[in-house]
Amino acid sequence: MADEESAISTEPDGEIRCGYVALLGAPNVGKSTLLNRLVGAKVSIVTPKVQTTRNRVLGIAVTSGDQIVYVDTPGIFTPQKRLDRAMVAAAWGGAADADVVVVLADAKRGLDADSGRIVAGLAKAGRRALLALNKIDLVRRETLLQLSERFNKEGAFEETFMISALGGDGVDTLLEAIRARLPAGPWLFPEDQLTDMPQRLMAAEVTREKAFLQLHQELPYAIDVETDSWSEQDNGEVRVEQTVYVRRDSQKAIVLGKGGSRIKAIGSAARADLEEMFGHKLHLFLHVKVRENWPENRAHYRERGLDFDA
Ligand code: GDP
Ligand code: MG
Repeated sequence: MADEESAISTEPDGEIRCGYVALLGAPNVGKSTLLNRLVGAKVSIVTPKVQTTRNRVLGIAVTSGDQIVYVDTPGIFTPQKRLDRAMVAAAWGGAADADVVVVLADAKRGLDADSGRIVAGLAKAGRRALLALNKIDLVRRETLLQLSERFNKEGAFEETFMISALGGDGVDTLLEAIRARLPAGPWLFPEDQLTDMPQRLMAAEVTREKAFLQLHQELPYAIDVETDSWSEQDNGEVRVEQTVYVRRDSQKAIVLGKGGSRIKAIGSAARADLEEMFGHKLHLFLHVKVRENWPENRAHYRERGLDFDA
């Protein structure tokens, strides 16, 4: 009997591990950049502006035989509007379900109010986590050590890592610590799957990223993108139609640009990325429409796995 048990045991060394890892942090600390590096592919959109990530994204990586499922949460910040509340609720929800929580902080920005709230939230929940001080390429070593002490005052962290998600420094060490904390168990997703985000939503996010990058000031936050149709043709090419929603007529004119020049530039940048991500030739058609109250539209939340009533 004992022999039989050991024959099917998953206990010995070299066991397969699989688990969920939540990346928590204030907006703009580098969560999406780290996720893309860990997964080795572009799955989450990255921009220099805050609040780019509006929904939970899973990035899936296989490392030395273990499958690691990353949850890239929206940033945690003080919620004011409905959309804000839904995003913050999604972020904490991502942490509660995770096997490992990694808190990312911007070493340049330091321990600000947003990061302070995360540390306090973890301490209150009795949830231990790993701390990754990111963007170490931007600060001096002494500053880092002091910052690490301040973050560790409340005892919320098991270990602290100094990394540059952009350059890659320290990321391997962090990855080893993550792997060591994963539960033993079979893979949850097929080997070649990088994300659980539906193709259409991912494509809409890419276009939204390009719009973010090409528009300035407040306008980007008024923008939403939806994929209206996605059709694969016999020759393997894909035809995608999307609508860029703005909240006012004046914004529509800005997004279109002179003679449609801006929307054209947004479209061709998005198409280039999408062709690379999906690996086939793609025809992208963008429409611009005014929809005053998209942040109050229940369907918008459901589609993104957010809770309208958060
Ligand atoms: P998120 O909002 O936390 O997902 O942050 P993003 O991943 O979108 O990154 C926000 C900005 O910080 C982008 O401009 C990134 O290029 C930049 N960034 C991320 N990691 C690093 C880093 O290690 N060093 C530097 N210098 N910039 C970084
Ligand atoms: Mg992000």
